[in-house]
Amino acid sequence: MTRSHPSAAPASAATDPTSLHPSRQAAVEADACDPLASLREAFDLTAGLIYLDGNSLGVLPRATAGRIEQVVREEWGRGLITSWNAAGWMDLSRRIGDGIGRLIGAGPGEVRVADSTSVNLFKVLAAALAMVKAEAGPERRRIVSERSNFPTDLYIADTLARTAGFELVLVDSADALSAALDERLAVLMLTQVNYRTGALHDMAALTAAAHAAGGLAIWDLAHSAGALPVDLNGADADFAVGCGYKYLNGGPGAPAFVWAHARSLDRMDARDIRQPLAGWIGHAAPFRFTPDYQPARGMDRFQCGTPPVLSMAALECGVDTLSAAEPLGGMPALRRKSLALTEAFIAGVDARLSAHGVQVATPRAHDARGSQVSLTVPEGGYAIVQALIARGVIGDFRAGDPARGEPDLMRFGFTPLYLRQGDVWDAVDRLVHVMDSGEWRSERFQRQSAVT
Ligand SMILES: *Cc1c(COP(=O)(O)O)cnc(C)c1O
Repeated sequence: MTRSHPSAAPASAATDPTSLHPSRQAAVEADACDPLASLREAFDLTAGLIYLDGNSLGVLPRATAGRIEQVVREEWGRGLITSWNAAGWMDLSRRIGDGIGRLIGAGPGEVRVADSTSVNLFKVLAAALAMVKAEAGPERRRIVSERSNFPTDLYIADTLARTAGFELVLVDSADALSAALDERLAVLMLTQVNYRTGALHDMAALTAAAHAAGGLAIWDLAHSAGALPVDLNGADADFAVGCGYKYLNGGPGAPAFVWAHARSLDRMDARDIRQPLAGWIGHAAPFRFTPDYQPARGMDRFQCGTPPVLSMAALECGVDTLSAAEPLGGMPALRRKSLALTEAFIAGVDARLSAHGVQVATPRAHDARGSQVSLTVPEGGYAIVQALIARGVIGDFRAGDPARGEPDLMRFGFTPLYLRQGDVWDAVDRLVHVMDSGEWRSERFQRQSAVT
């Protein structure tokens, strides 16, 4: 691997200048030494297209279409209702949950796949608030989160706070976050990796701070599960939720996952606290059809209605693409590659795009970022992203709120399962071309679609 050319990165950059490959050839040679290179073969990738949006919708695994066809034609078509037992449909939530659990530091049986991230957050936050109310009394009334958290998390928390008699407190900085963890804290609710900037929280430290204040900690792993090693039990978190269609490659609208610490389940049992969406699949004995609700033991209580079997089958194929990395070093090895990719991208932007006013908005310290890099540009960036997509590099755009001092961002996600250093080189190269040529100014790149 030739990675010795330190020339072009500006001296001010904290990024290691040796991460800049001196040529496309050098980047491609680095890929030839990549011990994870074979994982790419599991994906149905479009030739020539560089996909840097796996943080929003993961790419299609090669196995998925065949597996869905098998579930439809054989399990549903021939097996019909007997497949609930014979094909293990009823075990899917737990089985896929165990695969996800290995990525996020959860033990066997501790994760269930169900519903959406928003719905799972509603369940665990409501349960956590009921626990605080029962154990701590009425003076702990605050749900603390960040104003920059993903909106659906804030909408769910705000609405629950209103109906359950709590108060949602939103902070704007790390200092304000620490200051908000006091004797009024009921629940600290954070997303580990920020969806806009890619900034990464220290889950163990913040969970410890929430506990020291007497509150609970709920983590949203939407941009961390499958993107970096997560250790929920090691961090001693209380509850967690996460997304199936981002780094887990489960397909559009894939079901989400939910985790609770064993201690949280014991506390719910001790006070007879339920998660609020008490559907029949979360009942202790669904097929006894009793008129009264009796929550299942363990994590099954977090299921609600009938599992979406076709979507679950697709999600299982997605999780398998990550399980395939286990013999090659698993999430720690994927994390090393992810950091090498984002490091090379940042170095390329510093060296070749800073003259165009393009700046890196993502923290540069390795322990402070996830697997995405967000860029700012004085012109905003929407049309630049569109022009880049026309050049075969898919990223996305998130408008900022000027009232909150938020810049517009161009987001680029780096999925280590299928991206290569050569792709990073080409992506920077094509962005340089879009900027040098000014082709993004063309009318056709200015039109906004419904999904950005
Ligand atoms: C993507 C994402 C979600 C998505 O929620 P859905 O219910 O699947 O639409 C929720 N929270 C965060 C932090 C996300 O990044």
